[in-house]
Amino acid sequence: MLCADQVPIESTHSPDARRRRVPYGMNPEIIQHYHAHVYYDPASSRDRAARLRERVAATFPGATLGRWHDTPVGPHTQSMYQIAFPPTLLASFLPWLMLNRDGLSILLHPGTGDAYADHIDHAVWLGSVLPLRTNVLRKSRKAPHS
Ligand code: ZN
Repeated sequence: MLCADQVPIESTHSPDARRRRVPYGMNPEIIQHYHAHVYYDPASSRDRAARLRERVAATFPGATLGRWHDTPVGPHTQSMYQIAFPPTLLASFLPWLMLNRDGLSILLHPGTGDAYADHIDHAVWLGSVLPLRTNVLRKSRKAPHS
């Protein structure tokens, strides 16, 4: 039995999703992994980013820490490093990040094989939303995201 405010997923028709041509009823099982991109300013918040990184490594051995990118790469317009993790870690890692991001902006996105949709349509931001170079993502459309 459904609660009054509970609507089956297949009957939700978000105007935003329609405009962006996001398919309805996508099965989360297509998510192969997640990325959390941790943004920082080399001049003012690299130390906080380093502390967060050390704590992630100590707390979540199942997460894979990417290299530091002091110079923005790909679609990213600020310095960042990436944390890759399996779907099984989401339920414990996401609330931990919410409580421990220390003011840093984080882009959390699924890996479904469509880099553009993953970063733009399916992404979740913790903290301030930062601009992304969407032209880079469009060029790599359908190509697996790394
Ligand atoms: Zn990513």
